[in-house]
Amino acid sequence: MKEKILREKLKLMNYDLLTSVSPNSKEYFYEKLSKKISDILSIDFTGIYLYDDWNKHFKLASESDLLAEYVYDPQLTCRKSIVNGETSIKFNKNNFILSSYTDIDILPLTLSNGPMAIIVLGVALNDAITENMKMVLREEIENGLLVANDILQTKINEERNRILFELTAKFLVLNNKTDILTEIITSARKFYPDYDYYLLLSQDHDESVGLPIKAMELGDNSTNLASSQAFLKGEVQIEEIDHKHTCVYAPLKGFQGVYGVVQIIAPSKNVFSKDDLDFISKFANTAGKAIESTILYQNSTHLVSDLILVNDLTHQLNSNLELKEITKLVRDQIFKICQAEEIGFVYRMQETTQDFETIDGSTSFFNSVEGRGFTRHLVAEMLKRKEAIFYGDYKHGDGNVPYHAMMVLPMENAGLINGIAIILHKNPYAFSFDQFKLLQSIIRHSTLAFVNTILKDQLQKLVSTDYLTKLYARNYLDEKISEHMNSGETGTLILFDIDNFKQVNDSFGHFVGDEVIKQVAEIIKSTIEKKDIAARWGGEELAVYLPGTEINEGVQIARNINTQVENFTEPRVTLSAGVSSWTSTNEDSARSFFIRADKALYEAKSYGKNCVVKYSLKDQEKDKLRL
Ligand code: GH3
Ligand code: MG
Ligand code: MG
Repeated sequence: MKEKILREKLKLMNYDLLTSVSPNSKEYFYEKLSKKISDILSIDFTGIYLYDDWNKHFKLASESDLLAEYVYDPQLTCRKSIVNGETSIKFNKNNFILSSYTDIDILPLTLSNGPMAIIVLGVALNDAITENMKMVLREEIENGLLVANDILQTKINEERNRILFELTAKFLVLNNKTDILTEIITSARKFYPDYDYYLLLSQDHDESVGLPIKAMELGDNSTNLASSQAFLKGEVQIEEIDHKHTCVYAPLKGFQGVYGVVQIIAPSKNVFSKDDLDFISKFANTAGKAIESTILYQNSTHLVSDLILVNDLTHQLNSNLELKEITKLVRDQIFKICQAEEIGFVYRMQETTQDFETIDGSTSFFNSVEGRGFTRHLVAEMLKRKEAIFYGDYKHGDGNVPYHAMMVLPMENAGLINGIAIILHKNPYAFSFDQFKLLQSIIRHSTLAFVNTILKDQLQKLVSTDYLTKLYARNYLDEKISEHMNSGETGTLILFDIDNFKQVNDSFGHFVGDEVIKQVAEIIKSTIEKKDIAARWGGEELAVYLPGTEINEGVQIARNINTQVENFTEPRVTLSAGVSSWTSTNEDSARSFFIRADKALYEAKSYGKNCVVKYSLKDQEKDKLRL
């Protein structure tokens, strides 16, 4: 065949072939090309091998049944060497099993814009292809492939740009992380439908049902993993698994950090070209930026809503509340934010002591034996560390405390940690770091309200405490009785007067007299319950108000106190006591209630002292007669 005719036929072939260039049917293109070459040259077979840059070998690109009969190694083992700046391809002819009628001819092609290629021509033994023909073949096929590669690349880029463009447009309208993750997976599947995709995210990602999410391993032992490398370096990584799969790890990278890694698993060995990887990297960066902007957006809306919340709370805290109300307010707010199971506040009521008291309004755990023990432990740790503590999964020394997720926040005032807030949950990792940060801010803002109210209470207590006996002062007792008579059902008042106290003063002096009053006060304090109020009524007269206690029980309590005073005072003194009571069923006043007790006391004195007299109905009748 004349070279000129051959050239023309090849030109026609090229023209015809260019219409079938498509990113989705590369095999079809090379098959068509090899078939046409065989037709034009009237030869047995044509095989086209393309250089695979990753595997460093030539790989059959045209799947030809005919060729399969002649070639036992479809991945033709060739060596590529650069000699004097020129690329030459050496290959091993033994890789071909040839029939006795066939010889092969090799046509190495160098392409500036695509993989190097070899065309293997199966030629009848006596029908060799001349060197001139080979030159024409080489020139024309190279020309054709150059144009085809350009078209192919343009089409691929077009398609990829379209995908990236669509993705960016979609991301613009999505403002939630789950939607973005879903879109990443959906778009990736469009491009490589046969591959598997996973999103590797850090521990604290939101639960997104239905998405192929795996936890990112970032421990000390995992830094060598390709996935960790991608995350830490922010660069695409490739990994071959069992010579069967190729994994690409592309970091979801934004401007400020990496938000996870997309894992793409191809079901065959090394199939990603440099262009593929470039595209995957661009794709993952687009996704990373979208995730970043939703996180920033969510953070900013969180920030605003957190600010509003803290502001509202501070406003409420400033409205002159009692300690119990403050505790309830802060506790409810903490519960709303993080659904804690136990919330406790402990406070050092006096700066000079190391005793932290549980503030009323803490949940029940903090009043249990385990709770108190555990609180002591946390207080010690806080005083040592002097900063907020956040435990995801706290491991207890003993098994009595069932809480694992834990936030311990200092209540700091004027540079001193005088209290702590403890927030607990049984489930490990029940609290997020964002919640921790918000609660830190809430405790910081409410500490001043706690401190002020505690100080106010302490001041009030100081004013209403008798300096000698440390019992309440009379005005406090008056106030409490009036309050209780408005809200309660019943109550009893005992008035005590030390018998013959003048004699004590006369015999032992005033100082000893004072000591005796203190002894009596101690006995009273140790006998009554927490709800009862003991006060110094005046001089050597003391009073006890028993809210909710009926008169006969009050008489018993008075007798008990009298007996103890008689037995345990030094120098020994005795008491006279008058007892009165009120019930909500009768009309009554605080003044009349006091006068009745005083009358009974007077009667006790007149009975010969060291006894208890209750104001009875009979006395009431006497009073009426007197009126
Ligand atoms: P009676 O059995 O009738 O109560 O006799 P009494 O001696 O206790 O008499 P009265 O209650 O009238 O007198 C109380 C005395 O207690 C008068 C006062 O000198 C003394 N007194 C009052 N307050 C104090 C005090 O704070 N310290 C001391 N040491 N003595 C006081
Ligand atoms: Mg008296
Ligand atoms: Mg007296």
